[in-house]
Amino acid sequence: MQAYLDCNATTQPLPEVVEAMAACMRERWANPSSVHRAGIEARHAMERAREQVAGLLGCQPRHVSFTSGGTEAAQRAILGALAARPARPCLATSPLEHSAVRELAQSLEARGNPVHWLRHHADGTIDLDALDALLRDHGPTIAVLSLMWANNETGVVQPIVEVAARCRRAGVVFHCDAVQWVGREPTDLLASGIDVLTASAHKLHGPKGVGAMAIRAGASIESILPGGPQELGRRAGTENVPGIVGFGVAAEAARAWLASQAPNAPCRSLITGLERSILDAVPGSVINAMTAPRLWNTSSVAFPGLEAEAILLLLSERGVAASAGAACSSGSLEPSPVLRAMGLSDPVAHGTIRLSVSRMTTTAEIDHATRVIPECIAKLRRSGMPG
Ligand code: PLP
Repeated sequence: MQAYLDCNATTQPLPEVVEAMAACMRERWANPSSVHRAGIEARHAMERAREQVAGLLGCQPRHVSFTSGGTEAAQRAILGALAARPARPCLATSPLEHSAVRELAQSLEARGNPVHWLRHHADGTIDLDALDALLRDHGPTIAVLSLMWANNETGVVQPIVEVAARCRRAGVVFHCDAVQWVGREPTDLLASGIDVLTASAHKLHGPKGVGAMAIRAGASIESILPGGPQELGRRAGTENVPGIVGFGVAAEAARAWLASQAPNAPCRSLITGLERSILDAVPGSVINAMTAPRLWNTSSVAFPGLEAEAILLLLSERGVAASAGAACSSGSLEPSPVLRAMGLSDPVAHGTIRLSVSRMTTTAEIDHATRVIPECIAKLRRSGMPG
């Protein structure tokens, strides 16, 4: 039995996504900018996908530009907003962001660009009073504020609509990294007040290497790299048509699922059930940010005194795939900067693993994990090794 509980790292592409991409590579391989018939057919396939993605994001197709993924989309949004208004040189963002945003902010700061680091409560949610003070004192110098909708490591959900309203009043462009949110909860760019939202196909059962920026009309975002006129002049370079077509199919499926599911759909309680079993079966275990508003699919579980890497290796041997913090930081012995910034103690941060599911996760997988996780923790504790 295998249990794949690493859906925040990536999700399995749907069979219809794989099929649509293969058909596109066989039959729609022309350049979508070409004027001949084959080019026009490739362009139509891409424009159909743009409609499907816009449908999932709650905006018009003309608002959507495709990119090579969530990282590129977020960085284009932030750098594009800074480039559009040089009189406002500052970026505001949170130390709890994904590395795609956090490391960009750190590198800007190292090069002398002012960055305001947003304050947050102990549970990982943003401190709105501190944000009010920041915008009151520095608003006119801030070009863009970047805040993720749901955290990839803890699932903590930010009060995005409240943040958007504050940014709007202060004249600050609001970028929301919605990579972990889109496809799991309804998204409405226009109603949310977000200026630019970024998403990634592979987190919603689409392909890797394709993402999107959805830019509300009137938001000041400049294209940061010169080149061809693709994507309404917002992102030069020949588009990844098969990837975009796959993204479209995945977006359509996610939208249908969101529309058809009751708020109490069974997959939404898989993680809370698993958390309850772990807390019952493993003395001393802790759910990080347990009381914060969290995405239904993510759990950050700590086994203080153990090392996450040792836990993950043993789980993997027993057929449970999970990760420690961000996927890209697994393999290193350092606890993630996000857990550190949340103020978790060393033993808790070192012993934290992330369990994340999707709408395709089965109760059999959760049952398997419910059996295996306490066994593995007991074994590591018996061995007396931190890992
Ligand atoms: N933002 C968040 C919150 C993520 O979780 C990820 C990927 O894990 C990214 C951005 C980067 O997306 P991509 O892998 O498509 O570059």
